[in-house]
Amino acid sequence: MYPLAEHVCLFDIDGTLLNSGGAGQWAMEQALEEVFGVTGPYEDIPAAGRTDRAITVDLFAHHGLDYSESNLEPFQAAYFRHLPAALAGRDGRVLPGIYDVIAALHRQEQLELGLLTGNYRIGAELKLKHYQLHEPFTFGAFGDEHLDRDDVARLAYAEACRTLNREVHPQQVWVIGDTPADIRCGRAIGARVIAVATGLYSYPQLAAARPDHLFHDFSKSAELLTLFH
Ligand SMILES: [Mg+2]
Repeated sequence: MYPLAEHVCLFDIDGTLLNSGGAGQWAMEQALEEVFGVTGPYEDIPAAGRTDRAITVDLFAHHGLDYSESNLEPFQAAYFRHLPAALAGRDGRVLPGIYDVIAALHRQEQLELGLLTGNYRIGAELKLKHYQLHEPFTFGAFGDEHLDRDDVARLAYAEACRTLNREVHPQQVWVIGDTPADIRCGRAIGARVIAVATGLYSYPQLAAARPDHLFHDFSKSAELLTLFH
């Protein structure tokens, strides 16, 4: 029998758990160059808070490439191949307090940890494994299939119910992320939202998007943990 989780935490990855030092973007650029022989810059294509599928659609459109299986498949394969070296070579890091927070949440039996990320599933796994952060997360929803983060949130909510084998009340679900898109997607599923200003968006910018709770970072982990009692 599964222990009844009273809370489900859905964590974003980039800007929330870790900063890959641009490894993801670099690996995508390497993949575009290797597979299609095209190069950037790509400053006009935003990435924060978006799904990898949406970013890929924009990158392909930028170069006039068809968004087809025959283009997507080799691109993804090259991206996943370049990502580990990019993670090892770039100046990435796990964000302040995250190891402590995740370990503390993981110890709580009444709490289930999942992922709600725009990353491709394999990309997410590579990033988390590189930083030894993958283990506590028992389920997740990823950016492979959807353009809109709200749809990834709906998928994450369904996965939470499936994993716990019961209907989880949306107010027992917490979405934790670093962009206004994270806050919006949390609202889309009726969840509570915790924003953290460790990504591209400043504290005031996130405050304007009205999360339930807002942190500069998670270095004082106790403050975050008190929310789940
Ligand atoms: Mg993020």
